[in-house]
Amino acid sequence: MAHYTIAIVGAGPAGYFTAQALQNSQTPGLTFSIDMFERLPTMWGLVRSGVAPDHPKIKSVSKVFEKIANEPNFRLFGNIEIGTDIDIEELCPRYDAVVMCTGTNVGNKLGIPGEDLPGSLSAADFVPWYNGHPDYTHVNVPLDGDTAVIIGAGNVAMDCARMLALDPTELDTTDTASHALAALHASNIRKVYIAGRRGPEHAAFTSPELRELPKLEHTDVIIDAQAVEEAHDRATSSGDIDKHLASNLEAWRLIAETDPVGHARSMEFIFLSAPIEIKGDGKVEEVIFAVNEIHDGKVVATEKVHSIQTNLVISAIGYKARPIPGISLLNGKIENEDGRVLGTNIYTVGWAKRGPSGVIGTNKSDAADVVKLLIEDLDPVPKQGGDISVVIPQAITIIDQGGWSKINAAEVAAGEPLGKPRFKVVDRSELIALAE
Ligand code: NAP
Repeated sequence: MAHYTIAIVGAGPAGYFTAQALQNSQTPGLTFSIDMFERLPTMWGLVRSGVAPDHPKIKSVSKVFEKIANEPNFRLFGNIEIGTDIDIEELCPRYDAVVMCTGTNVGNKLGIPGEDLPGSLSAADFVPWYNGHPDYTHVNVPLDGDTAVIIGAGNVAMDCARMLALDPTELDTTDTASHALAALHASNIRKVYIAGRRGPEHAAFTSPELRELPKLEHTDVIIDAQAVEEAHDRATSSGDIDKHLASNLEAWRLIAETDPVGHARSMEFIFLSAPIEIKGDGKVEEVIFAVNEIHDGKVVATEKVHSIQTNLVISAIGYKARPIPGISLLNGKIENEDGRVLGTNIYTVGWAKRGPSGVIGTNKSDAADVVKLLIEDLDPVPKQGGDISVVIPQAITIIDQGGWSKINAAEVAAGEPLGKPRFKVVDRSELIALAE
């Protein structure tokens, strides 16, 4: 019988699904001890700090995560940052394998003039701000203007747009961070544009997200019916279209056919608009777009431009991995081959491995694939690396599974009288005190 010790870095979906894949791979002759490291005192990664608060059902996967974490072969080391508090060089020799599930949390840049003006944010800052990530509570989100512009045509852009365009009373019963909820209640924003640089037929939104838009109770959702028909004609002109695109085109038609009610709040899609400059005197005042056209299936820039006056621009155009000392990055991901970091006992799963694509469940199959390779690679004789506890700096308060359970229970209890699934604590020292 061989018993191996595996470290997982990052307590998000990829991390938990990796732990689950290891647990599911155990046999009488092959067993694992799993140590999961997380730099925050709170767990669940994007399920806590990414998923939009008005989509609570998606967060129910956290029950699965807790089941995995309560298995006897699982230990949690929260509030410890690998690469800072413990070096990769200290970690690797102590484990048979180390699986980096650290995601991608740096927003891609547009690379256009004016992008760094106050009022121009990345979704990588805005999303954790409204979700109560302790490192993002002080992000400055100017909500005093009447218009916001979201750049990008993916589900993150859609989440950002809904958070700004919903009536904030709809968020009162969600786990939106209290600082963000107060700011959204005071917000003057009434018009939210979502700008895609290609056509509706190319948008990365998924159909369920599009189909919920006509059902919004306090927000008109607008798309030009002609733009939808043109997208439909372009998409079908080359023959059969796949079922996801067909479903999206149908969803666009439903949105176009739903007449605006005249709500004070609206969300409007504009397409074939590529941002080329953000203008303003000391802060964002205007976004300039180049008008694109599509010829023979190719997106072609024209000389034409249009602009939108706004004080808030949020770019939701993808993410890249944050550098971790001792880990080599390539194209915004951890440099890897099918999840193996060649020449090391390091593996990677999730967005850190494959880039920011797919839904939470995608990480389950990804984790299973990488764990299969990891098991193939294991030395016949497990390492005797010694317990990691001896290298954890004394000054650090470790949040173990018991501590995290206390934080979790306290937040849920605090949310109950307010009709919320939880009331998030966003201050690190308060979180640590709750765990102790
Ligand atoms: P995404 O789906 O890859 O969309 C990124 C968007 O940014 C695309 O429309 C892309 O346009 C655009 N873009 C990239 N560079 C640009 C530029 N320089 N100027 C203008 N537009 C630019 O990424 P995401 O929205 O960040 O989502 C990441 C993943 O999380 C996706 O798989 C998504 O489905 C998932 N997610 C799911 C949910 C949900 O299930 N509810 C919620 C949030 C996120 P081009 O196509 O033209 O490159």
